[in-house]
Formats: sequence, structure tokens, C-alpha cells
Amino acid sequence: MHDLQELLRALIPGLQLSLIMAKFIFVTGGVTSSLGKGIISASLAKLLQARGLKVTIQKFDPYINVDPGTLNPYEHGECYVTEDGAETDLDLGHYERFLNIFTSQSNNVTTGKIYQTVINKEREGAYLGKTVQVIPHITDEIKRRMKLLGNAGYDIVITEIGGTVGDIESLPFIEAVRQLQWELEEEDCLVVHLTLVPYLKAAKELKTKPTQHSVKMMSENGVHPDIIVCRTERPLVIELRRKIALFCNVKTEAVIEAADAASIYEVPLIMMREKLDVICLKKLNITQYQEPELSKWKEFLDKLKYPKAKVNIGLIGKYIELQDAYKSILEAFVHAGAVNECKVEVINIHSEFITEGNVDEKLSNLDGLLVAPGFGHRGIEGKILAVKYAREHKLPFFGICLGMQMSVIEFGRNVLHLDAHSTEMDPNTPHPVIDLMEEQKKVTAKGGTMRLGSYPCVIEPGSLASKAYGSNLISERHRHRWEFNNKYLEQYHQAGMITSGTNPESNLVEIVELRDHPFFVGVQYHPELKSTVENPHPLFVGFVNASKEFAEKKASVRTSVLQKETI
Ligand code: GLN
Repeated sequence: MHDLQELLRALIPGLQLSLIMAKFIFVTGGVTSSLGKGIISASLAKLLQARGLKVTIQKFDPYINVDPGTLNPYEHGECYVTEDGAETDLDLGHYERFLNIFTSQSNNVTTGKIYQTVINKEREGAYLGKTVQVIPHITDEIKRRMKLLGNAGYDIVITEIGGTVGDIESLPFIEAVRQLQWELEEEDCLVVHLTLVPYLKAAKELKTKPTQHSVKMMSENGVHPDIIVCRTERPLVIELRRKIALFCNVKTEAVIEAADAASIYEVPLIMMREKLDVICLKKLNITQYQEPELSKWKEFLDKLKYPKAKVNIGLIGKYIELQDAYKSILEAFVHAGAVNECKVEVINIHSEFITEGNVDEKLSNLDGLLVAPGFGHRGIEGKILAVKYAREHKLPFFGICLGMQMSVIEFGRNVLHLDAHSTEMDPNTPHPVIDLMEEQKKVTAKGGTMRLGSYPCVIEPGSLASKAYGSNLISERHRHRWEFNNKYLEQYHQAGMITSGTNPESNLVEIVELRDHPFFVGVQYHPELKSTVENPHPLFVGFVNASKEFAEKKASVRTSVLQKETI
């Protein structure tokens, strides 16, 4: 490819090479984790996309698991599932939400995947006679994967490197970037380094030393950042920018302030003010671009900042103390809230602590209730009690995956009076209303073996789902092993729980609804994974709207009671 580029450059002077192969931006992080590399990468990608370029982002994670599908949320937050069924890092969710594009298997690579490929090749005899080593074999495989999307029609491929510079696991990735910097043309690749500039209260000063050390460590590994993005709580005054530029060998204009923002969705505009995109375009020698087209984005931000109403929505889960466990659900609420011009106050309620004695008190101030996805026994009885409350009080209800399954069990127990359960929690239940899918019965391996990714679903005309989607054929992403047991279908239908969405090939139930309820929807799939700023998910929009109506009704009842009391 390199030679081909050289040849074409010589033949057609001034040819925009992005037409042939993408340019590469690498984003690394220093000083500490959790600085928001994913958001900075997604924001930069958004700005370049808004300038008319075709952009994608990929994440390289240094851990040895093949994918995060086997990690629990305490370790790694939510597991994000792509259209093609890859279990990936939650940053891919940010990429999709910001860019409104689909990512895939190729957008998330781990050390585990790299080693798996190299070791398989070694067994096939691909390196016969040779010693297989980190350099060049592992780094070659990293580079091959880094460049893979470069031939997929993108102008720019942004690669976020997980972890922090200085970690042992990150070294082969940094080494691969070093090699690529030499292999690619200077104008085809750049490195953005995100660091922390902490404010020391006692000294009343921002400190640049951690940034200097972090850049020094990168340089010792042979990689020199072109742009330094500084996370900071206080303004990065010009003197400090000059100081960082001087010590870190970059131009002052390439020292970017990333101030804390009220919402992650403001970061692209903050980065635009700091001219991050302009500096990248200049360094990459990209000359064909437009003024940033961000009208939809700004419209969304306006609605987000100035809501006209507020609803309290309870999120019932067992990981509520973790900010990242239900990331996509929380973001889908932000998108749906903006459409409804309504602030969604998410009230986290731990399912393990809901009891018959306190359920009314815990849920009485809510305008809507979402029962979260999950695995295993812990906290499920609390979820079932919460569903019962929503059903009986006509409180808008939205159940996702395990949440949907809990609504089926609740209905089975309290309306059909069956001793109902899921075989996930009770393999010997007399009424397995939720049962293991047929194709799952022979599965023993854990990684990547659930029903994963996108499947079609046919929707019953006239149902709540059909109204929300405005379509009778949809496609949604899955991550589960258990399903609604179709043996009970008739019994449920007759008693008022309808199955309003079904997979056309396998007949698996995808959506359940209650007939006599303003909004009671349970979905076997994960709608939150497809909600983006520009395409908020219709079921989240419908659910927030129903919660808004519930809140308005409650308020008008309250006013009329007060009026009666004053008369
Ligand atoms: N544990 C359930 C299943 O595997 C639900 C999974 C989920 O909520 N993602 O079917």
C-alpha cells in the first residue's frame, strides 16, 4: 500500500490520498485512567464528520480477555453489542451515539484477540522455523488490525488506545504506533495525547508536571505526540499552554484545554472552540473540507439545556452504584428526554433492597419505571415486586431483556396464579415461563455464545410498539440465552399480556405488552444500544412521553384536590 501511495503521488501531484487509503489519528492517554479518552475521540470524530469527512473510530484494549463479554460490570462497566454481534467495550457506544454510524467486530481489538490470531497462525505453521516474538509478530498483527479499516472507504480512522501510557500491557500497542509513524507518510498519521493537568488547592495552581512526565514516557517509547489535550478543572491560561508546549515539544496551538463539561454532548463544541479539528486537518494536510455542519447537534443541545418539564424515572437494577453499568440506558434517556423537551431524572433503585414492605414507599414518587437487564439470581425478587407495582398502579413500565423476563414471571405468578419462574434461576420450576433457548441447550463455552447482535422482529399492528416505531418490521440487538416459553403464549394472550413482537424465522417472542395499561412494554432485545443523538430510540421516546403524561395527570389530580380543600 505504501509503495502504491508513493507511485500515485508521483503520478498525480496533489492527489488527496484519503481517496485511496485513510489517514490515521491515534489517541493515547496519560497520567490516569478515566480522563474521557472515548469522549475526546468521539468528539474529534464528530467534528471531522461535520466537516464532510468519512470517519470511523476503533478501540484497542490492552487486556487479555478476547472480548469484554466475560467481564462483569464491576470490572468493565457495560458490555456494548454491535450489529454483527460483537461484545465490545462501552466506548463503542459513545462512537455510535456521537457519529450515528454502526461499528462492528473490527472496531474493538484486545490483546487477547491479537495473541489468539498469532498463536492460531503459529499452530497452522505460518511461521515455521521462526521464533514467534512480541516484536515483530505481535506488533505486526496489531498494525494489521490498526490499518484494517483504512481500506474500508474512510477518510480518517481514529484509533483509541485503552489504558494509560506506562502500563506494561500497553507497550506493544505504543510500539505499533511508533512503527506505523515511520511506515506511513508524515501527513497520514498523527498522535493525540490526553493528559490531566490537576489543580492543587493548597498551592492554588494548575500543575503541568504530570503531563510533562507522561509525554516524556511516550518519548522514551519512541512516540511523540503532535497534540496534547489537557483535562482540567480550571482554565489553561496561555502561560501554561506555552510551558507545556515548551517542555513537551509541540506548538502552543497544539496544547488544547479540555475543561469539565456539564454534558458529554457539549465536548464536540468545546473542542471546536479549541480548534482541535483544524489542527488535525492541518497536520494531516487535508484541504477539502466544509464548515462544520452541526445544526442537528446544536438543536439537540438546546433542548437538553432548556427542558420544559421533568419526570422521575426509576431505574431498577443490581449495579446501580456503578456509573458505567447501564451507560447506554442512561444515554438513551438523555436523547429521549431532549426529544420530549423534558429532563429525565433517573432515580437509581437497588433491586436487592426492594421488599413487599417498602415497595410502595420506594416507587410512589416515580413517573415511570425501567427494569434493567442482568444475569443470575441476585435482586430478581425486587425486580418482580417493582413490575407488580407498575402493572397495578398503571405506572409506565419499560422492561429490558431480564426486565422483560421479570414482567413475564410477575404476570404468570400474580395474574395467572402459576408458580412461575425462569429456568435460569430455578431449573426445576413447575412453570418455566422463561426457558433456555433450544440452540443454547448444547452450549457450554462462555465467550461469545449468547444470542448476539441484530435480528429482525415483526410487530403487531395497533400495538404500543407499532405506534412507537411507526413500522411493523424492525431490527434490534440481542444478548441473552433465555426466552419467553411459547407453550404459555395462549394463556398469556387470553389474560391480557400480548406478545406484540416476534422473530419471523424462529418465532421467538421479542416484545410483550399489557392490553389495559397506558404504557407497559417489555423487550427481549436491547433498544438502548441503538439510540443516538440524531436518532433517539422510538421506544425510549414513547416511554418518556408516557411518563410525562403520567406526571401531568398526577399534578392535575393534586391541583384539583388542593382546590377542593380550599373551597
Ligand atoms: N439473563 C437473561 C438471559 O440470558 C437476560 C440477559 C440480559 O438481560 N441481557 O436471557
